[in-house]
Amino acid sequence: MFSSNFIISPFQGQDENIHLEKWNKIKGQSQQLSKRLLCFPPESPIWAVGERMSMCASVLFFGYAEDGERRLRNTSYCRARLCPVCQWRRSLKVRGQMMEILDHVERTHGLRYIMFTVTVKNCDSSDLRSTLKDMLQAWGRLTRAAWFKKICVGVYRAVEVSINPSDKSCHPHIHAVLAVRPGYFSGRDYTKTEEWAVRWQEALESSYTPVVHVTVLRKPFQKSVAEIAKYSLKVSNLIELLNEIPDIMLADLHWGLSGLRLFSLSGVFRQAHKELHLSDMDTPEEDVSDDSCFDDVVIPYFWNAGLGCYQSGK
Ligand SMILES: [Zn+2]
Repeated sequence: MFSSNFIISPFQGQDENIHLEKWNKIKGQSQQLSKRLLCFPPESPIWAVGERMSMCASVLFFGYAEDGERRLRNTSYCRARLCPVCQWRRSLKVRGQMMEILDHVERTHGLRYIMFTVTVKNCDSSDLRSTLKDMLQAWGRLTRAAWFKKICVGVYRAVEVSINPSDKSCHPHIHAVLAVRPGYFSGRDYTKTEEWAVRWQEALESSYTPVVHVTVLRKPFQKSVAEIAKYSLKVSNLIELLNEIPDIMLADLHWGLSGLRLFSLSGVFRQAHKELHLSDMDTPEEDVSDDSCFDDVVIPYFWNAGLGCYQSGK
Protein backbone atom coordinates (compact mmCIF):
# COMPACT_ATOMS: atom_id res chain seq x y z
CA MET A 1 0.00 0.00 0.00
CA PHE A 2 2.82 2.40 0.76
CA SER A 3 5.46 3.03 -1.85
CA SER A 4 9.08 3.23 -0.80
CA ASN A 5 9.43 6.87 -1.68
CA PHE A 6 7.13 7.95 1.14
CA ILE A 7 9.01 10.15 3.56
CA ILE A 8 9.04 8.74 7.07
CA SER A 9 9.48 11.42 9.64
CA PRO A 10 8.57 12.11 13.25
CA PHE A 11 5.69 14.43 14.08
CA GLN A 12 6.54 18.05 13.82
CA GLY A 13 5.36 20.62 16.31
CA GLN A 14 2.79 18.30 17.88
CA ASP A 15 2.70 16.67 21.25
CA GLU A 16 2.89 13.04 20.33
CA ASN A 17 2.43 11.95 23.95
CA ILE A 18 -1.04 13.40 24.06
CA HIS A 19 -1.88 12.01 20.67
CA LEU A 20 -0.81 8.50 21.57
CA GLU A 21 -2.05 8.46 25.16
CA LYS A 22 -5.42 6.91 24.33
CA TRP A 23 -3.86 4.42 21.94
CA ASN A 24 -1.36 3.35 24.62
CA LYS A 25 -4.11 2.89 27.19
CA ILE A 26 -6.44 0.86 25.03
CA LYS A 27 -3.77 -1.21 23.33
CA GLY A 28 -2.50 -1.94 26.86
CA GLN A 29 -5.96 -3.25 27.80
CA SER A 30 -6.01 -5.35 24.66
CA GLN A 31 -2.62 -6.79 25.66
CA GLN A 32 -3.88 -7.65 29.14
CA LEU A 33 -6.83 -9.49 27.68
CA SER A 34 -4.83 -11.28 25.00
CA LYS A 35 -2.41 -12.52 27.69
CA ARG A 36 -5.34 -14.15 29.47
CA LEU A 37 -6.57 -15.76 26.26
CA LEU A 38 -3.06 -17.06 25.56
CA CYS A 39 -3.29 -19.05 28.81
CA PHE A 40 -5.72 -21.38 27.02
CA PRO A 41 -4.15 -24.52 25.47
CA PRO A 42 -2.61 -23.67 22.05
CA GLU A 43 -5.01 -26.08 20.32
CA SER A 44 -7.99 -24.10 21.63
CA PRO A 45 -9.68 -21.64 19.23
CA ILE A 46 -9.63 -19.08 22.06
CA TRP A 47 -5.81 -19.26 22.14
CA ALA A 48 -5.82 -18.35 18.43
CA VAL A 49 -8.08 -15.37 19.19
CA GLY A 50 -5.59 -14.31 21.88
CA GLU A 51 -2.72 -14.54 19.42
CA ARG A 52 -4.59 -12.45 16.86
CA MET A 53 -5.50 -9.93 19.56
CA SER A 54 -1.88 -9.65 20.70
CA MET A 55 -1.01 -8.40 17.22
CA CYS A 56 -3.98 -6.04 16.85
CA ALA A 57 -2.86 -2.55 15.78
CA SER A 58 0.81 -3.44 16.40
CA VAL A 59 1.87 -0.73 13.97
CA LEU A 60 0.02 2.54 13.54
CA PHE A 61 0.61 4.45 10.35
CA PHE A 62 -0.24 8.10 10.77
CA GLY A 63 -0.40 10.66 8.02
CA TYR A 64 -1.13 14.31 7.54
CA ALA A 65 -4.56 14.91 6.04
CA GLU A 66 -5.36 17.80 3.70
CA ASP A 67 -6.38 20.00 6.62
CA GLY A 68 -2.92 19.56 8.16
CA GLU A 69 -4.23 17.35 10.98
CA ARG A 70 -2.38 14.19 11.85
CA ARG A 71 -4.67 11.20 11.49
CA LEU A 72 -4.47 7.46 11.62
CA ARG A 73 -4.02 6.33 8.07
CA ASN A 74 -3.74 2.61 8.41
CA THR A 75 -3.37 -0.25 10.84
CA SER A 76 -4.55 -3.83 10.99
CA TYR A 77 -7.25 -4.94 13.40
CA CYS A 78 -7.82 -8.39 14.90
CA ARG A 79 -11.61 -7.97 14.78
CA ALA A 80 -12.06 -10.16 17.86
CA ARG A 81 -15.35 -9.34 19.57
CA LEU A 82 -13.79 -8.68 22.97
CA CYS A 83 -10.81 -6.69 21.73
CA PRO A 84 -10.76 -3.26 23.39
CA VAL A 85 -8.95 -1.66 20.44
CA CYS A 86 -11.43 -2.99 17.88
CA GLN A 87 -14.40 -2.04 20.05
CA TRP A 88 -13.04 1.46 20.56
CA ARG A 89 -12.43 2.06 16.87
CA ARG A 90 -15.81 0.61 15.97
CA SER A 91 -17.64 2.76 18.51
CA LEU A 92 -15.90 5.88 17.12
CA LYS A 93 -16.97 4.87 13.64
CA VAL A 94 -20.56 4.22 14.69
CA ARG A 95 -20.70 7.56 16.50
CA GLY A 96 -19.42 9.41 13.45
CA GLN A 97 -21.85 7.64 11.15
CA MET A 98 -24.82 8.15 13.47
CA MET A 99 -24.11 11.88 13.74
CA GLU A 100 -24.20 12.11 9.96
CA ILE A 101 -27.29 9.92 9.66
CA LEU A 102 -29.30 11.76 12.33
CA ASP A 103 -28.48 15.14 10.78
CA HIS A 104 -29.31 13.86 7.31
CA VAL A 105 -32.64 12.27 8.27
CA GLU A 106 -33.69 15.30 10.29
CA ARG A 107 -32.87 17.60 7.39
CA THR A 108 -34.45 15.52 4.64
CA HIS A 109 -37.45 14.01 6.46
CA GLY A 110 -38.06 16.39 9.38
CA LEU A 111 -38.36 13.45 11.78
CA ARG A 112 -37.75 13.39 15.52
CA TYR A 113 -35.95 10.79 17.58
CA ILE A 114 -36.56 8.67 20.64
CA MET A 115 -33.83 6.90 22.58
CA PHE A 116 -35.15 3.52 23.57
CA THR A 117 -33.31 1.04 25.79
CA VAL A 118 -34.67 -2.43 26.45
CA THR A 119 -33.25 -4.95 28.86
CA VAL A 120 -33.67 -8.58 29.79
CA LYS A 121 -32.95 -10.32 33.06
CA ASN A 122 -29.28 -10.89 33.83
CA CYS A 123 -27.99 -14.29 32.79
CA ASP A 124 -25.06 -16.53 33.48
CA SER A 125 -22.23 -16.19 30.94
CA SER A 126 -22.89 -19.78 29.82
CA ASP A 127 -26.36 -18.63 28.70
CA LEU A 128 -25.18 -15.38 27.10
CA ARG A 129 -25.37 -16.60 23.52
CA SER A 130 -28.89 -18.03 23.81
CA THR A 131 -30.06 -14.98 25.79
CA LEU A 132 -28.72 -12.61 23.12
CA LYS A 133 -30.36 -14.66 20.38
CA ASP A 134 -33.69 -14.67 22.20
CA MET A 135 -33.39 -10.93 22.84
CA LEU A 136 -32.70 -10.20 19.18
CA GLN A 137 -35.58 -12.43 18.09
CA ALA A 138 -37.87 -10.55 20.47
CA TRP A 139 -36.54 -7.28 19.06
CA GLY A 140 -37.46 -8.55 15.58
CA ARG A 141 -40.99 -9.35 16.75
CA LEU A 142 -41.34 -5.90 18.33
CA THR A 143 -40.07 -3.94 15.33
CA ARG A 144 -42.06 -5.98 12.78
CA ALA A 145 -45.37 -5.41 14.59
CA ALA A 146 -47.88 -3.29 12.66
CA TRP A 147 -48.37 -0.78 15.53
CA PHE A 148 -44.58 -0.29 15.77
CA LYS A 149 -44.23 0.28 12.04
CA LYS A 150 -47.00 2.84 12.18
CA ILE A 151 -45.03 4.83 14.76
CA CYS A 152 -41.42 4.30 13.74
CA VAL A 153 -40.03 4.81 10.27
CA GLY A 154 -36.41 4.15 11.15
CA VAL A 155 -34.56 2.10 13.75
CA TYR A 156 -30.94 2.00 14.90
CA ARG A 157 -30.08 -0.73 17.36
CA ALA A 158 -26.92 -1.64 19.21
CA VAL A 159 -26.38 -4.64 21.46
CA GLU A 160 -24.45 -4.09 24.68
CA VAL A 161 -23.44 -6.43 27.48
CA SER A 162 -22.12 -5.40 30.86
CA ILE A 163 -20.94 -7.61 33.69
CA ASN A 164 -22.27 -7.32 37.21
CA PRO A 165 -19.14 -6.87 39.40
CA SER A 166 -20.59 -8.72 42.40
CA ASP A 167 -22.04 -11.92 40.96
CA LYS A 168 -20.36 -11.76 37.47
CA SER A 169 -23.71 -12.21 35.76
CA CYS A 170 -24.17 -10.73 32.29
CA HIS A 171 -26.55 -7.89 31.57
CA PRO A 172 -27.53 -7.84 27.89
CA HIS A 173 -29.50 -4.87 26.61
CA ILE A 174 -30.31 -2.99 23.42
CA HIS A 175 -29.80 0.73 22.87
CA ALA A 176 -31.97 1.98 20.06
CA VAL A 177 -32.89 5.20 18.33
CA LEU A 178 -36.36 5.32 16.81
CA ALA A 179 -37.26 7.88 14.14
CA VAL A 180 -40.84 9.12 14.59
CA ARG A 181 -42.96 11.72 12.87
CA PRO A 182 -43.14 15.11 14.69
CA GLY A 183 -46.86 14.55 15.39
CA TYR A 184 -46.08 11.44 17.44
CA PHE A 185 -45.58 13.35 20.69
CA SER A 186 -49.00 14.99 20.65
CA GLY A 187 -50.96 12.42 18.68
CA ARG A 188 -52.91 9.25 19.45
CA ASP A 189 -49.91 7.05 18.78
CA TYR A 190 -47.90 8.51 21.65
CA THR A 191 -46.75 5.59 23.78
CA LYS A 192 -45.93 5.99 27.46
CA THR A 193 -42.92 4.26 29.01
CA GLU A 194 -45.17 1.74 30.83
CA GLU A 195 -46.80 0.84 27.51
CA TRP A 196 -43.39 0.38 25.88
CA ALA A 197 -42.50 -1.98 28.74
CA VAL A 198 -45.68 -4.02 28.13
CA ARG A 199 -44.96 -4.19 24.39
CA TRP A 200 -41.40 -5.30 25.07
CA GLN A 201 -42.62 -7.91 27.53
CA GLU A 202 -45.07 -9.24 24.91
CA ALA A 203 -42.29 -9.43 22.33
CA LEU A 204 -39.99 -11.14 24.84
CA GLU A 205 -42.79 -13.51 25.83
CA SER A 206 -41.50 -13.16 29.38
CA SER A 207 -43.30 -13.65 32.67
CA TYR A 208 -41.58 -10.62 34.22
CA THR A 209 -41.93 -6.93 33.33
CA PRO A 210 -38.63 -5.94 31.76
CA VAL A 211 -36.96 -2.60 32.43
CA VAL A 212 -37.12 -0.11 29.54
CA HIS A 213 -35.98 3.50 29.23
CA VAL A 214 -37.55 5.95 26.81
CA THR A 215 -36.33 9.53 26.33
CA VAL A 216 -36.48 12.11 23.59
CA LEU A 217 -33.18 12.45 21.77
CA ARG A 218 -32.52 16.15 21.52
CA LYS A 219 -29.94 18.30 19.85
CA PRO A 220 -26.99 18.56 20.07
CA PHE A 221 -26.81 14.88 19.25
CA GLN A 222 -23.18 14.27 20.38
CA LYS A 223 -23.91 13.31 23.98
CA SER A 224 -26.80 11.00 23.14
CA VAL A 225 -24.90 9.40 20.29
CA ALA A 226 -22.04 8.63 22.67
CA GLU A 227 -24.61 6.85 24.87
CA ILE A 228 -26.04 4.69 22.12
CA ALA A 229 -22.80 3.79 20.34
CA LYS A 230 -20.67 2.42 23.14
CA TYR A 231 -18.61 -0.75 23.31
CA SER A 232 -20.54 -4.00 22.80
CA LEU A 233 -18.93 -5.39 25.92
CA LYS A 234 -18.16 -2.82 28.55
CA VAL A 235 -14.37 -2.92 28.45
CA SER A 236 -13.67 -1.08 31.71
CA ASN A 237 -15.91 -3.68 33.36
CA LEU A 238 -14.04 -6.56 31.76
CA ILE A 239 -10.54 -5.23 32.49
CA GLU A 240 -11.34 -4.35 36.10
CA LEU A 241 -12.75 -7.82 36.69
CA LEU A 242 -10.19 -9.68 34.60
CA ASN A 243 -8.46 -11.30 37.57
CA GLU A 244 -11.78 -12.47 39.00
CA ILE A 245 -13.24 -13.84 35.78
CA PRO A 246 -12.61 -17.55 35.21
CA ASP A 247 -11.28 -18.77 31.84
CA ILE A 248 -14.56 -20.42 30.94
CA MET A 249 -16.38 -17.11 31.32
CA LEU A 250 -13.94 -15.36 28.96
CA ALA A 251 -14.65 -18.04 26.38
CA ASP A 252 -18.41 -17.64 26.98
CA LEU A 253 -18.17 -13.89 26.43
CA HIS A 254 -16.22 -14.35 23.22
CA TRP A 255 -18.55 -16.98 21.76
CA GLY A 256 -21.61 -15.19 23.11
CA LEU A 257 -20.88 -12.10 21.04
CA SER A 258 -19.37 -13.80 17.98
CA GLY A 259 -21.32 -14.03 14.75
CA LEU A 260 -24.06 -11.64 15.85
CA ARG A 261 -24.88 -8.39 14.12
CA LEU A 262 -24.26 -5.97 16.98
CA PHE A 263 -25.22 -2.76 15.18
CA SER A 264 -28.02 -2.48 12.67
CA LEU A 265 -30.12 0.07 10.85
CA SER A 266 -33.50 -0.09 9.20
CA GLY A 267 -35.98 2.16 7.43
CA VAL A 268 -34.97 5.79 6.89
CA PHE A 269 -31.70 5.23 8.79
CA ARG A 270 -30.62 2.44 6.46
CA GLN A 271 -31.63 4.54 3.49
CA ALA A 272 -29.57 7.48 4.80
CA HIS A 273 -26.59 5.18 5.39
CA LYS A 274 -26.79 4.25 1.70
CA GLU A 275 -27.30 7.81 0.48
CA LEU A 276 -24.31 9.00 2.49
CA HIS A 277 -22.18 6.15 1.08
CA LEU A 278 -21.11 5.00 4.55
CA SER A 279 -19.31 1.72 5.14
CA ASP A 280 -20.50 -1.31 7.14
CA MET A 281 -21.20 -0.24 10.70
CA ASP A 282 -20.41 -3.57 12.30
CA THR A 283 -16.64 -3.57 11.65
CA PRO A 284 -13.82 -1.40 13.01
CA GLU A 285 -12.82 1.44 10.70
CA GLU A 286 -11.44 0.27 7.39
CA ASP A 287 -8.00 0.93 6.03
CA VAL A 288 -8.04 4.23 4.23
CA SER A 289 -8.41 3.08 0.67
CA ASP A 290 -8.36 6.58 -0.74
CA ASP A 291 -4.91 7.92 0.04
CA SER A 292 -5.49 11.07 -1.95
CA CYS A 293 -6.58 13.01 1.14
CA PHE A 294 -3.13 12.51 2.71
CA ASP A 295 0.21 13.96 1.77
CA ASP A 296 3.18 11.67 1.16
CA VAL A 297 4.41 11.57 4.74
CA VAL A 298 3.81 8.26 6.53
CA ILE A 299 4.71 8.02 10.19
CA PRO A 300 4.83 4.50 11.64
CA TYR A 301 4.56 3.84 15.37
CA PHE A 302 5.32 0.37 16.69
CA TRP A 303 3.85 -1.18 19.82
CA ASN A 304 6.55 -1.93 22.36
CA ALA A 305 5.04 -4.69 24.51
CA GLY A 306 7.83 -4.45 27.12
CA LEU A 307 7.34 -0.74 27.68
CA GLY A 308 3.58 -0.85 27.10
CA CYS A 309 3.53 2.03 24.64
CA TYR A 310 3.88 2.91 20.99
CA GLN A 311 7.23 4.17 19.81
CA SER A 312 8.20 6.03 16.71
CA GLY A 313 9.79 3.84 14.07
CA LYS A 314 12.18 6.44 12.78
ZN1 LIG B 1 -8.47 -5.89 17.87
